[in-house]
Amino acid sequence: MAVIISGKEVSAKVRAEVKAECEQLKSKGVTPGLAVIIVGDDPASRVYVNNKKKACADVGFVSEEYALPAHTTQQELLSLIDKLNNKPEINGILCQLPLPKHLDEKAVINAISPLKDVDAFHPSNVGRIMIGDYHFLPCTPAGVMELIHSAGIEVSGKNCVVIGRSNIVGKPMAMLLLHENGTVTICHSKTKNLKEICSNADIIVAAVGRPEFVKDDMVKDGAVVLDVGINRDENGKLCGDVDFKAVEPKASYITPVPGGVGPMTIAMLMKNTLKAAKLQNNIE
Ligand code: NAD
Repeated sequence: MAVIISGKEVSAKVRAEVKAECEQLKSKGVTPGLAVIIVGDDPASRVYVNNKKKACADVGFVSEEYALPAHTTQQELLSLIDKLNNKPEINGILCQLPLPKHLDEKAVINAISPLKDVDAFHPSNVGRIMIGDYHFLPCTPAGVMELIHSAGIEVSGKNCVVIGRSNIVGKPMAMLLLHENGTVTICHSKTKNLKEICSNADIIVAAVGRPEFVKDDMVKDGAVVLDVGINRDENGKLCGDVDFKAVEPKASYITPVPGGVGPMTIAMLMKNTLKAAKLQNNIE
C-alpha cells in the first residue's frame, strides 16, 4: 500500500504561506498583482482563468483579467503585453494558452518581460533553469518537486524516469530532478523499451496525456509515482496518466488524480507572482 501524497493538503499549505507573506508585503506598501490574458472563449481556458483569479483573491493579490475576442490581432495582443510590462502594479503576466491559431504563441511568450513571466516560459527563464540560476520555475514541475519534498523523498542518486518531453512539463521536470542529483531518463513517444526503462525507476513522473497509460507491470515495487496527467476516461471521468488502482499497491508513494499534481500548479503560480513582486520592489 502506497502513501498517497495529497496535493490538496500541500497546495493549501503553500497558499497559506504565500498569503502570510503577502500580508507582510502589504505592510511595506506592496500588493502583488497578476494580469491574466485570455483570448477567445475556450471553455477549459475560461475555467483555468477563473481558478487563477480566485486563487489570487484568496491569497490577497490583485488580479486583472484581460478577456480579448477571438479575432484579436497579434499587434493588439503584443501592445497589451507591452502596456502590462510597463505597469508597476502588475508583477506577473500570464497569457492563457492555447491561443487561437492565427496568433503566434512563441512571439507572445517572447514579448512578456522575463521578470514578469510567472509561467517561466520565456526563453531567458528557460535558459536560467537549465543552468540552475533562476527566479521562477514552471508551475507544474515546481509543484511536483514540492510534493516530493513534502513527502521527504530523497532524489539524489535515484533513477528517475520522466515520461513526456513537452516544454512546459517533461523537459523542465527532468531538469529539476537533475538539479537534485537524480539520474534522469526522459522517455517520449519514440522511446523503445519504455516498460523496461520504467521498471528500473525509483521515481516515475508521468506527463503523457494518455488515460491510465502507466500500468503495474511498468512499475517496480516501492517506486515513487507522480501523475501529472489530466485526462478523461471512456466514461468521461477525470483520470491521470497512471492506472492508479493497479499501480498503487506496488508503489511506496503515489499522487492521485484529481487532488494530486493539479492543485499544485496554481499554488506555484501564486508563489511565483509573490516572488516577482518582491524582485520588482527589491525586497528580499
Ligand atoms: P504534451 O502532449 O505536450 O506532451 C506529451 C508527451 O508525451 C510528449 O512529449 C510525447 O512524446 C509523450 N508521449 C506520447 N505518447 C507516448 C507514448 N506512447 N510513450 C511515451 N511517451 C509518449 O502534453 P503536456 O502538456 O506535457 O501534458 C501532459 C499531461 O499533463 C496532459 O494530460 C496534460 O493535461 C497534463 N497537464 C497537467 C497539468 C497540471 O496542472 N496538473 C499541467 C500541464 C499538463
